[in-house]
Amino acid sequence: MARQKIISSQSTGPEDEQLNITLRPTMLDECIGTAELVAKLKIAITAARQRGEPMEHVMLHGPPGLGKTTMAYVIANEMGASIKVTSGPAISRPSDLIGILTNLQAGDVLFIDEIHRLSPAVEEYIYPAMEEFKVDFVVDSGMHSRTINLPLKPFTLLGATTRAGLLSPPLRTRFGIQHHLTFWTPEDLGRRVRMSARMLNIAYDEPAVEQIARRARGTPRIANRLLRRCRDYAQVKGDGRLTEPMVQAALDLEGIDQLGLDELDRAFLRTVIDIYRGGPVGIEAVAATLGEETDTLVDVVEPYLLQIGMIARTRRGRSVTIRGYDHLGVKPAAPVEGALFDPSEPPE
Ligand code: ADP
Repeated sequence: MARQKIISSQSTGPEDEQLNITLRPTMLDECIGTAELVAKLKIAITAARQRGEPMEHVMLHGPPGLGKTTMAYVIANEMGASIKVTSGPAISRPSDLIGILTNLQAGDVLFIDEIHRLSPAVEEYIYPAMEEFKVDFVVDSGMHSRTINLPLKPFTLLGATTRAGLLSPPLRTRFGIQHHLTFWTPEDLGRRVRMSARMLNIAYDEPAVEQIARRARGTPRIANRLLRRCRDYAQVKGDGRLTEPMVQAALDLEGIDQLGLDELDRAFLRTVIDIYRGGPVGIEAVAATLGEETDTLVDVVEPYLLQIGMIARTRRGRSVTIRGYDHLGVKPAAPVEGALFDPSEPPE
């Protein structure tokens, strides 16, 4: 569906992925935003290189499209190491993991995306691998069973997840560096858009860049995608140059509003208001009504709506706030509970 494609901060296909690779910074000094993480990594990388050891294991969490994969490649480059990329769901059996681990060279970076989706059986093997660079596994069974102890070459594990809450505590504590990636400011997104426009040879003016940055939902991957949509529009409807009216027209056509919300974001708000009287309502009920995956709503839609204060999330479910009603131009039928939510009440 087009509506998902444009807002989705996940990759939407090979073309998108190719663009992401082209536009990735390769060294820490080229990175935009994330100053705190960059500072932490610079120290850890320098210290590790001085000792001639691999860097500590790193865990990055945050919504998709904010730069987790980018950081993995940057760390590997800075360490002068190779990177092996995989994901939690791709490692279904312990033997898959053992195969990957035993093939790593000294100092390599192993990037496991969606690490919260590793099965407990696989996780068991990760602990000794991370701590002591070894794997123990049992061959044969019964009387003939014996444990094989396999040493590994020292490596750095970089785990990424959109759901830090789903990580098991033993796994989480084994990462020496943990960092939560937050949504980018419009200024940083503007820098990203300018850099991408230059790399893709797109002519632009400043107001056009600011428009894209404001409407990119705090996410560099979305900024890059919107830039590409606007380029196509300007090429067909104008002279190829990105101006503010061109960008406005292109993004309006995509159904992206002034705050960067798209149809799915607005459908989420509208469903909670129209069907569930503004909430609180469980996320599964909203997902069922919208015909969407719960994971998509939790990973992609909710974080930004929460960030800009359009919804509130409490133990009893999600509610639309007054700001959410205002954005849709709807008057609440009754006092809005979501607006009065108790910030001390922890999210579920
Ligand atoms: P994630 O792995 O979190 O889903 P990616 O690492 O694929 O996100 O980032 C998406 C895009 O955002 C990259 O292709 C790159 O263009 C841009 N990006 C991410 N982090 C940075 C950064 N620190 N500096 C500049 N651009 C970045």
